[in-house]
Amino acid sequence: MSRDNNQEELQFSTRLLHFGAEIDRATGASSVPIYQASTFHHEDIHNPPLHDYSRSGNPTRQALEDYIALLEGGVRGFAYASGMAAISSTFLMLSAGDHVIVTEDVYGGTYRLLTLILSRMNIETTFVDMTELDQVKAALQPNTKAVYMETPSNPTLKITDVAAVTEWARSHDLLTILDNTFMTPYYQRPIEQGVDIVLHSATKFLGGHSDVLAGLAVARTPEIGAQLKMLQNGLGTVLAPQESWLLMRGMKTLEARMAHSERSAARLAAWLDDRSDIAKVFYPGLAQHPGREIHERQSTGYGAVVSFDVGSGERARKVLNKVKLPLVAVSLGAVESILSYPAMMSHAAMPAEVRAERGITDGLLRFSVGLEAIEDLINDLEQALTE
Ligand SMILES: *Cc1c(COP(=O)(O)O)cnc(C)c1O
Repeated sequence: MSRDNNQEELQFSTRLLHFGAEIDRATGASSVPIYQASTFHHEDIHNPPLHDYSRSGNPTRQALEDYIALLEGGVRGFAYASGMAAISSTFLMLSAGDHVIVTEDVYGGTYRLLTLILSRMNIETTFVDMTELDQVKAALQPNTKAVYMETPSNPTLKITDVAAVTEWARSHDLLTILDNTFMTPYYQRPIEQGVDIVLHSATKFLGGHSDVLAGLAVARTPEIGAQLKMLQNGLGTVLAPQESWLLMRGMKTLEARMAHSERSAARLAAWLDDRSDIAKVFYPGLAQHPGREIHERQSTGYGAVVSFDVGSGERARKVLNKVKLPLVAVSLGAVESILSYPAMMSHAAMPAEVRAERGITDGLLRFSVGLEAIEDLINDLEQALTE
């Protein structure tokens, strides 16, 4: 019996398991084989094999690339050695003299790439508050080629109106790129809103286990896909076969993990919001979150990251030293909870005054809620917050 499914017709949770390559056609094996090979034999020199060299194509990586393209609803996917490899490879669609408009609270590594590396290649960036469409419009220059979004943003979870920015960008022939790391395709599929390229640090929720570093990109059209393919092969920023397999293994449980973590995150956010000793709580699911309505239009959930301001850097450092359950670390999106300190970790590359401007205060902590019992996480945080 043929097991060929029309994947687009299946529900998201079913597609996570039945993505087309879940059974090895040659042997019936229950997971994608790891093709640990750098090159492929030409049995007939006139008839080259499907893949000829693993930088240009590897069957294990290909299975992952088709998988993420299916989940995001794009035409072609790409897997890279890290999220930053995906992001830097994508930015190299731009040429010297081009200008890009970027959300001001962009991921710290992307900020570093733009301000320290691409600036030397004469690629110019204007950072704007993407929640204000007028600011985006005002940043347009004759040499503007692209708009780069991240929503919810990191770590203050500000919301960009994806459809509005994309519609405006398209009217000026600008490429639109969106970092979808925080939501994953389970909650948010920006290609459906017209975005041209969706990017991921798959190191986070997609991998989900703090054990693999990877990046993904998905193209909306075959033309953009061809450009990304040329860059991935030309730059050699590819993901290795072992890592590709590990990532697919993690992705199968994406929905189960996200749904559990989100329920807990909502409870944590509400608990923090009720406390008088917490200066501010950032979570798109809270009633007072300024971007909640827009977020609900473009996403089906609020995610698993809650940021909160404990009032001072001194108190933040105390909490970090006193918590017993979460990993105190850079990163997010794992089975275990991760508590991080943006001012000294992910956003340390940002000058202090820029950080302050963007709401990344010294008292701000970012809690990525994992799969522990929420009661235990709350009790632990309570003891850490107690003087
Ligand atoms: C972690 C992260 C990145 C960078 O990904 P790496 O896998 O660490 O290279 C990019 N964007 C966001 C939103 C991230 O959280």
